[in-house]
Amino acid sequence: MAKSYYDVLGVKKDATQDEIKSAYRKLARQYHPDLNPNNPEAAEKFKEISEAYDTLGDEKKRAEYDNPAPQFNFGSGGGGNADFGGFGSFGSSIFGDIFNMFGGGSERTQTAAIGRDIKISLVLTFTEAAFGAQKIVSFNRTEQCSLCKGNGAKNGTEYTKCTTCGGTGRIRQTQETPFGRIASERVCSSCGGTGRKIKEYCSECGGRGYIKKKAELKLTLPAGLENGQVVTVTGAGEYGKGGNGDLLIIISVQPHKLYARKGNDLYLTVPITLSQATLGDKISIPSLTDKKITLNIPECTQSGDVVKLSGQGIVTKKGTGNLYVTLNVETPKNLNRQQKALLKEFEDSLKKEQYDKVNKFEKTSR
Ligand SMILES: [Zn+2]
Ligand SMILES: [Zn+2]
Repeated sequence: MAKSYYDVLGVKKDATQDEIKSAYRKLARQYHPDLNPNNPEAAEKFKEISEAYDTLGDEKKRAEYDNPAPQFNFGSGGGGNADFGGFGSFGSSIFGDIFNMFGGGSERTQTAAIGRDIKISLVLTFTEAAFGAQKIVSFNRTEQCSLCKGNGAKNGTEYTKCTTCGGTGRIRQTQETPFGRIASERVCSSCGGTGRKIKEYCSECGGRGYIKKKAELKLTLPAGLENGQVVTVTGAGEYGKGGNGDLLIIISVQPHKLYARKGNDLYLTVPITLSQATLGDKISIPSLTDKKITLNIPECTQSGDVVKLSGQGIVTKKGTGNLYVTLNVETPKNLNRQQKALLKEFEDSLKKEQYDKVNKFEKTSR
C-alpha cells in the first residue's frame, strides 16, 4: 500500500500548517538534490516529500485529500484556472520555499498570481443531501475589473513596458550558497509581475485590476452529499492574474427527525406493539419523500429485528442503497387490573417451548 502523504512527511493527520511546513523543510533540507548530487534515492525521496507537501501544505488540496468530493467545473466567466497539480508547482511555490530557507530574498506573496480560494459553508437538509438540490450561494469575492480587463490602466490601454524586467515581469537571479549555486526567478517588484508600467490608472478599480463584488452562484448539487464534504467550484474564488482561485463549499447536513443515513443506505427505527410483533401486521411508514411505504411486519418479530427494503435507499452515481427498518417492540404501560389479568391468563396458556431465548437462557445459566 502506498504511504500516505502524512507518513511521507512524518506528521500526524491533525498536524497544523506550521507543523507540516516545518516537517517539510527539515526533510527538504536533508534530501534536496543540490545537497545530494548523483544520489537518485535522495532525488526520489525529495520528489516524494515535495508531492506530499504540495497537497498537505495547501489547505484546499489537503481537505480534498482527506475527504475526496465531487468536482464541479464552473464553466463561464471563471477564467482559465491553471491547475498546478503534483510536481508542477515545484517550480514556483516549493522552490520559493527552498530558496527562502537558504537565505534568499524572494517574496512569496508576489509569486502567488493565482487568486485565493474562498471557503463558505452551506447547510443542507437531510433530504436535500440525499436527493441532490438546486442551491443559490452568495458570497463576496474579487473579480476582474471589466473596464480595464484587469490590467489597471485607464481604458485598459494607458501603460508602457516595464524597464526593470523588460516587460517579462520576472527577474532571474543566482545565489551562491555553501551547497552550490542555486538559480531562481522572482517576480519583478517594480511592476509586480505584469511587465507593464501604468501611465494613467483605471477609474473603476484605481489600478488594482480587480473589484470586490457580491457573487451569486446557482449550484446543482448531486445526490448523496455527506456532512463535512467539500464541494469545489473550480475558478469561482478570488480573482488572480494567473487565474481565479476556487470556491470551496463545506457541506453540513442537518439531521432528520426519523431517518439516518450511511452512504446510500437509509436507516429507520419503527416502534411496534406487542401484538403486532406477535401476530404480524402491515403498516405504513413515511418515506423521505411524501409518499408512504408499506411495511410487512412478519409474524413472531423479535425486538431489534431489521427488515431490509432493497432499493429503497438513495440513488447516486455510486448506486442504489437499501432501507433498513429496525423494529422495536414497545411494552404497553399503565395496564389496569383487567388487562393484567388477561395478560397473565394468556401467559399461563403458553407452553415453555414457545419462548426460544428464555428457554435457552434458563438452560445455559442453570
Ligand atoms: Zn517589471
Ligand atoms: Zn479597472
